[in-house]
Amino acid sequence: MNAKPDTVSWHERARSLTPRTQAFIEGRYVDAASGATFNSVNPATGKVLAQVAAGDEEDVNRAVASARAAFRKGAWSNLPPAQRKKVLARFAELILKHTDELALLETLDMGKPISDSLQIDIPGAARCIQWYAEAVDKIYDEVAPTGPGALALITREPLGVVGAIVPWNFPLVMAAWKIAPVLAAGNSLVLKPSEKSPLTALRVAELAVEAGLPPGVLNVVPGYGHTAGKALALHMDVDCVTFTGSTATGKTIMQYAGQSNLKRVSLECGGKSPNIVLADYPNLEKAATAAAFAIFFNQGEVCSAGSRLLLQEGIKDVVLQKVQEIGQKMQPGDPLEPATRLGAIVDETQMKRVLGYIDAGQREGASVLLGGKRVRQDSGGYFVEPTVFDNVSPRMSIAREEIFGPVLSAITFKTPEEAVEIANDVVYGLASAVWTRDITTAHRMARAIRAGTVYINCYDADDITVPFGGFKQSGMGRDKSLHALEKYTELKTTWLELS
Ligand code: NAD
Repeated sequence: MNAKPDTVSWHERARSLTPRTQAFIEGRYVDAASGATFNSVNPATGKVLAQVAAGDEEDVNRAVASARAAFRKGAWSNLPPAQRKKVLARFAELILKHTDELALLETLDMGKPISDSLQIDIPGAARCIQWYAEAVDKIYDEVAPTGPGALALITREPLGVVGAIVPWNFPLVMAAWKIAPVLAAGNSLVLKPSEKSPLTALRVAELAVEAGLPPGVLNVVPGYGHTAGKALALHMDVDCVTFTGSTATGKTIMQYAGQSNLKRVSLECGGKSPNIVLADYPNLEKAATAAAFAIFFNQGEVCSAGSRLLLQEGIKDVVLQKVQEIGQKMQPGDPLEPATRLGAIVDETQMKRVLGYIDAGQREGASVLLGGKRVRQDSGGYFVEPTVFDNVSPRMSIAREEIFGPVLSAITFKTPEEAVEIANDVVYGLASAVWTRDITTAHRMARAIRAGTVYINCYDADDITVPFGGFKQSGMGRDKSLHALEKYTELKTTWLELS
């Protein structure tokens, strides 16, 4: 399908790329009403990539009005599911057809390796949309068991206008996790991508219209969180805000819902996920390899990253030795080089945050086994070495707070019970893993761990068929799988008296 260009040709292509930079409202690209723009910076060079429309309240108002009008008109909301299926399937195909272009935009905009954008992000986004397309005409409503005197129907209806606010770590995939079920259920959508990575969302909006989505059903308003994001979450005519991002912003979004129209809120927030390896696991090399990828993949900018490695006493040295070997080989490189496995941190602010945690870990008494520094400074970009901390105590900030960078904190424990206690002793509950040969121990621990996902003898296994989301302050509601549709539909009871 896609030729595999080399580094030189990716750089050449980057030079001839003209990203879409205006907001997408009512099926057309438009400037922000204020005319304001913000700089989209390539984190691998520190140079400005594009000037993007800085949407604010006025633009959000226009987008919501357009989404509402489209919803009322019914060209999408009243379309038979089999027709919606066709449009969404074409949309997924168009995304795949533009894989190279979208992968390049993603890598330039947020710094992840081009190989990952090509093989993981863009196909993942297309697969998500394809999956909901296929699902949408296979879902039935219910008839309640009321007895012969009545016919009580339980039907699902679209909510109306959904606002989606998404982060920068997997810009298109996170957007697709919202776009696909929201549209499949018949809603209209206003999407606000992160100000750090708006380019792929802006491009796919026109692909959706090309696929046959009526204008106004999918609108994209780029802009800052405290302006465009806030206006969307406070809007009186938005029925639901579906958010992925930090726990701090998630709390603010809930307040906005309370201050405005009590809109429905779903939150996919941060994590500090424990990856627990028991001494009985027979293949420690496999566990260590998975542990390294669980924290270094995507520069550690993964909500479900296995950022706490909990090792049973006795196996620490052998596991950490292997993790270090892999980390050594994953030195940050030019994201446009196809062999690069670790790219740039999304921006200078995030890099400083990561380096700040590395300093804090050392000050609090943990020891750096690997990495710990900024590298490739000559490039002008924001690169941090894969970093491994040993001698971490569960009270340290690097063991409790989300760093969102390639920084692993290794902690030892004696018993499975102690491991579960440490695992649960943070405010988050997104993902987790247990490595053991004992199936009873595995299930006992899986039940005791308070997290939305527990991997057993693997990490970051993924499929669109399973729900993803958090316990505790990692959020509420689930993305992916048929369960995501629950967030974007209302249940209605229609009672018909038969007696
Ligand atoms: P963030 O909270 O800073 O921003 C996320 C989005 O919210 C952006 O679009 C931003 O512009 C917007 N925003 C910021 N302030 C806002 C406000 N006051 N009102 C409305 N919108 C506002 O998060 P981030 O730095 O972009 O992303 C990293 C975070 O996302 C991490 O905590 C990570 O764990 C989390 N995340 C979670 C999942 C998941 O599925 N649970 C997936 C990916 C990322």
